[in-house]
Amino acid sequence: MNKDLDLVLRLEGLVLLRRGLACMGPYVERAALDFLEEQIDRLRRSVSGDLLSQYDRLARKYTNTIVPVSENTCQGCDRRIPPRLARLLESTTQTFQCPHCGRFLFAKHHAPAYVPLT
Ligand SMILES: [Zn+2]
Repeated sequence: MNKDLDLVLRLEGLVLLRRGLACMGPYVERAALDFLEEQIDRLRRSVSGDLLSQYDRLARKYTNTIVPVSENTCQGCDRRIPPRLARLLESTTQTFQCPHCGRFLFAKHHAPAYVPLT
């Protein structure tokens, strides 16, 4: 996974964490939410403008904007991707999107260590 996509993946994780903590309402310290907001802002400033725009567009539709490909199938929409794209994902760390749902894709073996994949 390339550095840009890794930043987006970390951003997505923090956004989901914020969403989860917000559901807990008064049980969460305001300072914790503020800290999380700062981290999210910091990450957003690290991501390039185009990629951030794409992420924001996808995040309005999906909670998972970056998904692995397994057996040539996007794990977001469960549709098969073209074999050529699957080969590129296996051999490079370029950023590609699913031709069906638009989510960012990565080959499982390019997943960062902090992403648990079965
Ligand atoms: Zn897809």
